[in-house]
This record gives sequence, structure tokens and C-alpha cells, in this order.
Amino acid sequence: PIPFSEVLAMIVVLRHGATEEAIQEVCERLERAGYQAAIWRGVERTVIGAIGVIDEEVKTQLIQQLESLPFVESAIRILRPYKLVSREWKEEPTLVPVRDKVVGGEHLIIMAGPCSVESREQILESAQGVKERGADVLRGGAFKPRTSPHTFQGLGYDGLKLLKEASEATGLPVVTEVMDPRDVEAVAEVADILQIGTRNMQNFTLLREVGQLRKPVLLKRGMWATIEEWLQAAEYICVGGNPFVILCERGIRTFETYTRNTLDLSAVVAAKQLSHLPVIVDPSQGTGKWSMVIPMSLAAIAAGADGLIVEVHPNPAQALSDGPQSLTLERFGELMERLAPVAAAVGRKLYCQSGASVGVS
Ligand code: PEP
Ligand code: MN
Repeated sequence: PIPFSEVLAMIVVLRHGATEEAIQEVCERLERAGYQAAIWRGVERTVIGAIGVIDEEVKTQLIQQLESLPFVESAIRILRPYKLVSREWKEEPTLVPVRDKVVGGEHLIIMAGPCSVESREQILESAQGVKERGADVLRGGAFKPRTSPHTFQGLGYDGLKLLKEASEATGLPVVTEVMDPRDVEAVAEVADILQIGTRNMQNFTLLREVGQLRKPVLLKRGMWATIEEWLQAAEYICVGGNPFVILCERGIRTFETYTRNTLDLSAVVAAKQLSHLPVIVDPSQGTGKWSMVIPMSLAAIAAGADGLIVEVHPNPAQALSDGPQSLTLERFGELMERLAPVAAAVGRKLYCQSGASVGVS
């Protein structure tokens, strides 16, 4: 827990030439909210510090109110705008259980499968293929957040049924996206992990809904989201009582257009420093190019990621979505083989190497 004494929560910078009355007004407002105020008088400016730990809602309101005063230059938040997901709150890493495995421990979790569930044959072949090559979790979208309404939208409920069948046939747990709060119950019946996509990272209704579950949630980083916004989205899920959040870096939008997104591996390091939650990486959405998926996967694990979610398709050229960034089954086998020495170099293990079957390619 945060040490509750002597915490500098906020700094209020006054405008040049602020009067004594103005200084007093700011101090009174801070003290009324429950803070202790400390005044630093400079030659040019006066700065007031607010010391204490006050409710987040009160603090956020107060910052805005202070910033609307004419003699206040800025009110700057010092403490982080999230609590439950922070390392300060909980030092030891959160282990998210997925059937008989955990995410966030010594072992890496490898999730693999097609972008979308397309047919019975396609998902069964994918599931069998990734399982043989060492995947721990089967991925596959039934509800797809497509940019255009004129492209394949996913098989919906039929897709969920096929995922269930593929899961039963292989014994692999399933991760799949939920887009609509009304579908959470149905998706949770099939999914071992519910995926919140990049476009829904700040769908607060959806976040609150999955916060009511006691089931793992894979929270993708918004393609426009700062690391702090991402962690606050995770906080929405945790305040509901669901502690099982897995963060997923999947690339952000930058000026670069050669790659589909800019995979921000520094965000993995930052998120692991700031939060106790496990962090995995999606190099497929992250690059948009299959030829970059293996190198970026290796880099992600070297940077400290707790696992990967990778798009794999038995025939990428026939895929209904994201074929250009999908690995073939053979290339996924190559990824698993090349991952082993990198994992070992950073003190991590692969579940598929602790069991009997290892990397068939
Ligand atoms: C996906 O995993 O296929 C997907 C749509 O991911 P994102 O939300 O990161 O774009
Ligand atoms: Mn995809």
C-alpha cells in the first residue's frame, strides 16, 4: 500500500504576480478538500504543494476547479491516476490462472490462431496445428471490429460454437473478443479469456461489465492510448472486483505508415514497472506484416513480456481477415523453436517444453 503520510499529491503553479489573496484562496480550497498546503515563494512565482491522500474523484474535480481560477497557471497531479493496478499498491506480480497454467509467472503464455473464425474446418485445423507446435491458448475472433461495415464481420454466435468445438477437440483454452456488453455472458461461457480490442479500450460500459466477471480479461492497449490511459482502463475492470487482467501491447498509431502500427515495446517495460499485471504482446496487429512477426516476438520476450498473442492461419492467402500478418502453421513452428533460446536467455520457460510434446514443424 501507498504510505499514507506526507504524500505530495498535487502542485499548483500560480501566475506571475498572483496576489496574497490569491495564494490564500488556493490554500483554503486545498485545506477544505482535506490537504495540507505548503507554500513556496519564489522571486517570480509562487508554487503551492498539496500534501495528503484524498479520494481520486475529489482530487480530479479539485484540479479542474483550480485550473479554472484566473490566477492559477496549472494544477499538476503528482500521484498516479490509478491505484489497484499499480506496483505501489501491490508489489508482487499478479498471476492470472488459465485452466492449469498461469500468465505472469516464470512460464510464457503463447496464444495463437487465426484472426477470425471462418469455418469449422479452418478453426479445427488451426487449433490442431498450433497445439502440435506448442501453443497454450487458441485465439480466434467470432465478433470482429472491422473498420468497414462492408467487410467480413465474423461468424458471431456460430463462431463461438466452433471455438468451443475446437477447444474441446484439442484441450486448448480459448481467447476471443467481446465487443458488446450484451454479449459478455455468452462469450464468457465459451472463452477462458475475454479479449477487449484496441477500439474498445475506453468502452467504459464494456469494461465495467467484464469487471463483474471473475475470469481473465485480455485488455489491448488503445491504438491512441497513453500508458496511463491504458492502466486506468485496467483499473475499471479491477474496481469491479475482477483482478484477472492481462495487458496487451498491440501497437499504436504514429506517423509511420510502412508498418500497420508502431509496436511500442517500451510500453511493455513501462507497464511492467508501473503495474503488477502481466503484459503480453501482439506482434501481428503490431506490425501488419508476417515477415516481421518472428523478430518482433523475440524482441518482445527479450523486453520482458509474459507472452504473445499471434495470428496463425493454415492458408493466409485465403484468410477473410488479416492474412498479410498471419503466420502459416510451419512458420509458427519456426517461431516456437526460435523462441526457446531467447526465453532461456531472460530466465523464462515455455510450457510446451516442460511437458511431453515440443515444437513439431
Ligand atoms: C485482433 O486481435 O484480431 C484484433 C482486432 O486486435 P486489435 O483490437 O488489437 O486490433
Ligand atoms: Mn486481426
